[in-house]
Amino acid sequence: MSVALLGGTFDPPHVGHVALARAALAELPIDRVVVVPLGEAPHKAVETDAETRLRLAEAAFADEPRVEVSRHELERPGPSYTVDTARWAAGELGDPIFLVGADEFADFLTWREPETILELARVAVAVRPGSDAARLDRVRTRLARPDRVVELPFTPLDVSSTEIRERVANGEPIDGLVPPAVARLVAELRLYRP
Ligand code: ATP
Repeated sequence: MSVALLGGTFDPPHVGHVALARAALAELPIDRVVVVPLGEAPHKAVETDAETRLRLAEAAFADEPRVEVSRHELERPGPSYTVDTARWAAGELGDPIFLVGADEFADFLTWREPETILELARVAVAVRPGSDAARLDRVRTRLARPDRVVELPFTPLDVSSTEIRERVANGEPIDGLVPPAVARLVAELRLYRP
């Protein structure tokens, strides 16, 4: 059986991330999802420290059967690149499949060593039924191993971590946008306040 990996900043994790993990378990030939919070971001500034984001991810997925959270990228020094996580996953977990949103996959060719990633792992791209297929094909036709890219039919929820951070900063509620345990932790740790 394969394992799906869900990487991300998780600053904070939200209901869209949980829905994506559930869709993967329902639709893909996998027996578990491993959530991998980013250690150090290669491309963007992340204010919330990695240990706190890991704690948030553990809270978000605590009630999800067959989902676990990995410290792997936190333990690895330097920026977290998917190709390095793919090497680890192929060696330690066996037959990994990365879960990637369609927006992110549009930039796949700019990632570090995309072809190596596809030798080590498959990529399941969450595609909105009927609307993301052409975008996906634009990338796929330029790959040596297009067979390693599979589609996961999934309609993303209208929520992002950016929106949640902004809502908290403005004193607005985030109920329903994050799992309740995440909302509690955000309040307790006073995250995202100005
Ligand atoms: P930010 O707003 O800070 O950029 P984000 O909400 O996009 O964050 P990430 O932690 O960067 O969250 O995302 C991790 C993974 O989850 C990515 O593969 C991304 O495509 C996917 N994802 C993000 N938002 C959603 C959503 N609303 N529904 C489903 N998947 C999502």
